[in-house]
Amino acid sequence: MYRLVITEKEKDLIFFNKEQSHYLKRVLRLKKGDRFIAMDGLGKSWLAEIITEREGKIVESLLISTELPIKITLIVALPKGNGFDEIVRSCTELGVTTFIPAIADRTIIKPSPQKLLRWQKIATEAAEQSERQIVPQITNPDKFTTVLEKLGDRETDCYICVARSDTNSLLECLENNKSQHLIVATGPEGGFTAKEVENAIAAGFEPVSLGNRILRAITAPIAVTSLIAAVAEKNITTLDR
Ligand code: SAM
Repeated sequence: MYRLVITEKEKDLIFFNKEQSHYLKRVLRLKKGDRFIAMDGLGKSWLAEIITEREGKIVESLLISTELPIKITLIVALPKGNGFDEIVRSCTELGVTTFIPAIADRTIIKPSPQKLLRWQKIATEAAEQSERQIVPQITNPDKFTTVLEKLGDRETDCYICVARSDTNSLLECLENNKSQHLIVATGPEGGFTAKEVENAIAAGFEPVSLGNRILRAITAPIAVTSLIAAVAEKNITTLDR
C-alpha cells in the first residue's frame, strides 16, 4: 500500500500539498475511496482514504514497528558533487535518525541554502519507500569544529572513522555497546586532518576503523549504518517486533 508523509492534518482530515495531490491522482491513479498509509514522519502511522484531490481522511491508527532499537546520528563531512544525496537516500533506508552535514578542513564544496530542502525531500521519499515511521532530521551544514562544540556534554557513545589507523574496529566497539544512541563521524575525500581527529578525541570521540580497505566518502557512512543496524537487530527476533 502506498505510503505518504503528510504535513497537514486536522483531527481526522489530511490535506495534500500540490505535489502529493498530483502524484496520488496522475501517477498512482488513486481515486475517491482508495486507501493508503499516512505517516507524520515522527513515528505515527494511519490507514487513510482519499476523499478528494486535495483531502484524505483517517480510517484507523496503525501500530507499525520498523525502526531500529537504537538512534543513529551521522556527522558526515560533505563529499564533492551531489554525493550527500546518495548518503541521505541509502542511510535513511538503513535507519539513520539524524544527519549532521559538516564542512571539514578538506571539504571541497560549498553547499547552497537550497540543498537542505533537496536533502529533506530525498529523506522523505526514502522513508516512505523503506516503510519507516520517522523521517530523519537533517541539520543545516556547519563547520566540523562547530558541530563538535554544539554537541556539548553528552552520555552518547561517539566515534570518528579514521582510515589507515591502528585503532579498534567499529564492530568491536559496537559489540560492547550499551548506549541507545550512537554518534559517528565520517570524513571527506581527503580524510579528516590530524588536528580534526585530535579535536574530536578531545570532545570525547573514539577513533575507529572500518577495515583494511579505504572506503569512499560516500561508502563510509553507508557501511557505518549497515554495521550498526546489523548489530542492533542481531538479537531481536520477529516475536519482539
Ligand atoms: N584520503 C584518506 C586517506 O588516504 O586516509 C581517505 C579518506 S576516505 C576516502 C573518506 C572517509 O571515509 C575517511 O575520512 C573516513 O572517515 C572514512 N573511511 C574510509 N575508509 C575507512 C576505513 N577503512 N576505516 C575508517 N574510516 C574509513
